[in-house]
Amino acid sequence: MKKHHLDWSSYETAGQGDAYAGIPATGGDFAKAVSVCISDKLCQRKPKGVMCPSFRATDDAAHSPGGRVKVLKAALNGELGDEPFAGAQLAAAMELCVGCKGCKRECANQVDMAAIKIEHQAQRNERLGVSRRDRLVAAMPRWLQHRRVLRGLIRLRNGTPWLAKLGEFLFGISAKRQLPELAIEPFSATNPLEQHSLLPPCRGKVGMGVDSLGDNISTPTLHGGGNSDVMLFVDTFALHFEPEIAAAAHQVLTAAGYNVITLQALPQDEPDRALCCGRTYLSLGQVEAARYEARRLHSALRPALAAGIPVVGLEPSCILSLRDDHLKLGLGEEAVALSKQVYLLEEFIAREHDRKRFTLEFKALPRGKTLVHGHCHQKAVGAMKSLRKVLRLIPEFEFEFIEASCCGMAGSFGLEAEHADISMQMAEIDLLPALRAAPDATILANGFSCRHQIREGVDRQPVHVALLLRDALNTN
Ligand code: SF4
Ligand code: SF4
Repeated sequence: MKKHHLDWSSYETAGQGDAYAGIPATGGDFAKAVSVCISDKLCQRKPKGVMCPSFRATDDAAHSPGGRVKVLKAALNGELGDEPFAGAQLAAAMELCVGCKGCKRECANQVDMAAIKIEHQAQRNERLGVSRRDRLVAAMPRWLQHRRVLRGLIRLRNGTPWLAKLGEFLFGISAKRQLPELAIEPFSATNPLEQHSLLPPCRGKVGMGVDSLGDNISTPTLHGGGNSDVMLFVDTFALHFEPEIAAAAHQVLTAAGYNVITLQALPQDEPDRALCCGRTYLSLGQVEAARYEARRLHSALRPALAAGIPVVGLEPSCILSLRDDHLKLGLGEEAVALSKQVYLLEEFIAREHDRKRFTLEFKALPRGKTLVHGHCHQKAVGAMKSLRKVLRLIPEFEFEFIEASCCGMAGSFGLEAEHADISMQMAEIDLLPALRAAPDATILANGFSCRHQIREGVDRQPVHVALLLRDALNTN
């Protein structure tokens, strides 16, 4: 291992002086991150908890976090040959890790296998090159610049079995799975409400449009009601696939008296392409491309960060990337500042409510039981507490959290031809049976991938919390 792709310096002192840590001979701070595992096999215990969907689905210790650590240590100790990152053994150990961060949350030593997997994939890409499929999937935020053509192609592919088979042959994308389809129009910050004409007009001031943002953000203005500016980061998924979620979040925050500002790229920085957190690149080990996207985002956010404006987002994997994974990109103080200033919508509302600044009263939503499926990264950072708190703000709203690990879609994992079946097996452990047991329940799932998996698994349409809150506005 000549160089690290991620910054592992936060593990510099991990395991030092501990004779039992078994820090491998090579790998530097990355090896120390691997060595925080103390091999107590709690991640392989039975009855199984909710940690590690790949262990739970296969019942094979080799596909548990501890099992992976064993092979990683062997690789870093030179037991798997000179080029273990190009070899089959390490690849097999890492293959079914879906990067859910369940281990980071539940293992007593917080082994961060999701980040270790990114480093592993980056090392592998360096040696073997990036596969055609990974190049295609990771660059999705760029392809979406040509959204009209792409929308037609995806719809055609989804409705034409032989085209889906051709896609499997050429790119390894499972013909059994549908691809998420693009909305007719992307979210428009200039006209967030009129664009989604089903939404009623809201009271309160509509935030600055994308066109004005660059000029105005450095001089934030207080909005009527004593509340202040909020920066809404509309991620790739909300922007292009489900713009109604971004519009609903905009409407709820505006109704609560915030001046909602939406973020746009700087004029000198590919201004025609939407900002992106780099998640699709990062999860496939394309760290340089992810770093480029992160820098672009940080530049655009610089004035907001300096002014202390909270950044609010909707997609757990994007927002929690900014809080967690970006700290391993070696981007300095700006990444640290952003990690402390970025919130999921429900985290922001819960925090503001605690501080008596979110005083909006919702109307009752007596719609029977709602089952809530948390995105793995929401669970990993403890964000489910905020979601519970926010749902309790809605009178007569009955909900229940589902106890489950990863839904199995995990970004593009469930779309990959060789992983489509195991992905569904992961969903069948707890999640889909719980949903089938309550056929009339509304389903709440904040993750884009989770909603896709649920749609395919039980043929029902889950909602994001922003849509629920919008429905509970008294103006509706
Ligand atoms: S990954 Fe965590 S739970 Fe599993 S063996 Fe290692 S220390 Fe124990
Ligand atoms: S990130 Fe998830 S799938 Fe990977 S080892 Fe940890 S718990 Fe298992």
